[in-house]
Amino acid sequence: MSRRHEGQRDVRQPPRRRQAELRAHAETTTASPPEGLLREALEANGQRFTEQRAAVYRCLLATDRHPSADDVFTEVRRVVPDISLATVYKSLETLVTCGLASKLTYGDGSARYDARTDPHHHARCLVCGTVVDLPGRLEPTALSDLGELPGFSVEGYRFEVVGVCSAC
Ligand code: ZN
Ligand code: MN
Repeated sequence: MSRRHEGQRDVRQPPRRRQAELRAHAETTTASPPEGLLREALEANGQRFTEQRAAVYRCLLATDRHPSADDVFTEVRRVVPDISLATVYKSLETLVTCGLASKLTYGDGSARYDARTDPHHHARCLVCGTVVDLPGRLEPTALSDLGELPGFSVEGYRFEVVGVCSAC
């Protein structure tokens, strides 16, 4: 009885240890951090991890130029030649839904995507449309200088500097 018990333990322990080793190995070597993060965020939102979504996310992470869906499509097609613009667009929207990207929308209906999701502000060139991150940020108390609007409950704010970039 005692021997059988020990025997069972011996049989069970090694695989468990092996599993932990494998997991530790996978965490440190194979899955690069962005992919692990992506997989986690997608699955937490009931979405599947796909190589196409990963390629779109990698592309967005690799740039601070706030690309449009078209820009991302042009870039991702170098790596995934058979990807469609619709898939790129849907992948970007999925990243936004999962909190891994933010979307900048403009009055003309155009949109740009940003892998940064922390609060920050942008400067946009009125000539070429380039959008760059501003290094600093306004204190939230700056909002009170704008005054209160009766009946309007403020949830947040967007601040954008517009001008002409050095290239234009
Ligand atoms: Zn410009
Ligand atoms: Mn940004």
